[in-house]
Amino acid sequence: MPGAVQPLAPGQRKASALPTLDWSGRPPEIERVEFASNGNIEVAHALVLVTGEADPDRWLYLVRQSVDGAFGERASLHEVDVSVYRAETYQGFGGPAPVMTASVPKARLHEFARKGLQFERLWVQRAHLALESSPPELAGREQGLKSTEASENLFYHGSEQRWEAALTFDDSPHPLYEPLLLDTLSRSKVHATFFCIGRNARVYPHFISDMTRQGHEVANHTYHHVRLPALGNSAVAREIELANSILEGLTEQKCRLFRPPGGEYSKQTLKVAEELGMTTVFWTDDPCDFDNPGEAVIEDRLVEHLRPGGIVLLHDNVEETIEILPRFVRVADRKGYQLMTAGELASRQNQ
Ligand SMILES: [Zn+2]
Repeated sequence: MPGAVQPLAPGQRKASALPTLDWSGRPPEIERVEFASNGNIEVAHALVLVTGEADPDRWLYLVRQSVDGAFGERASLHEVDVSVYRAETYQGFGGPAPVMTASVPKARLHEFARKGLQFERLWVQRAHLALESSPPELAGREQGLKSTEASENLFYHGSEQRWEAALTFDDSPHPLYEPLLLDTLSRSKVHATFFCIGRNARVYPHFISDMTRQGHEVANHTYHHVRLPALGNSAVAREIELANSILEGLTEQKCRLFRPPGGEYSKQTLKVAEELGMTTVFWTDDPCDFDNPGEAVIEDRLVEHLRPGGIVLLHDNVEETIEILPRFVRVADRKGYQLMTAGELASRQNQ
């Protein structure tokens, strides 16, 4: 339904279930502990469901149990991420936000044990924020016309004369997948643009900081990941501004690039973004990785469609994408392409 909150990319084929960890003495609130690998490192994610009054000390105890239990059970883990939700309102990743999250690399286990609630990679909901509970209301529906007008605030592709292409990931950040993807990019020695969902960036701030620190570009994918053409102008502006305020607070950099969720926009959407000083970034190649079509299919589509000035659209939470990424980067390199962020590609366009 247009305008509905859809924080996850719709998949036509479900991703295969991840393997899980269990250990004796695991508190019943630790619902599920999954893990995945990028071929180099392994990361686990614990889902914790709590009831009753807000009790950060109890939540922290459960995070510690998750972290210690997972590392104890599987020595090869590089990092354990934890998301603590209220059981009463839990509806999965796209539902009401968690009340505590943590990202604990094995190398920082002692620091986490020492600092507890003060640990830099732990986030806790300190107060109820009104903005979290109010997805935008549908307002006067505007025409869903696709604009083809050239404007400096619309970025369709880079120079077709240069062997350069941009790598972009939508829907970030996700626990478990973000550390795997960031490690993969770092090993492949490429920088990418992450179109981040504001509400998720707020509760997993550690991953946004990691992106910036590792030289990636953080960009705007709205606050609630809503389909924008069904919204009125002020609701569209609010979606973009809320996401910017979260992202700019974390990166301490101006956020200038924007991509509408689901690739759905109207002339009005583009105009609102332009008035807010944003450049809307499109794409030349969408291999539909969110459909989980299989590694070979994604890789073939990427290689086949790669072209000078291209903008590749991928998603951060697709295991198959993380798996084939190093091979795609190697092929691009062999063909003489330089992969870069969308911002870099745009700035080199007029050189
Ligand atoms: Zn999206």
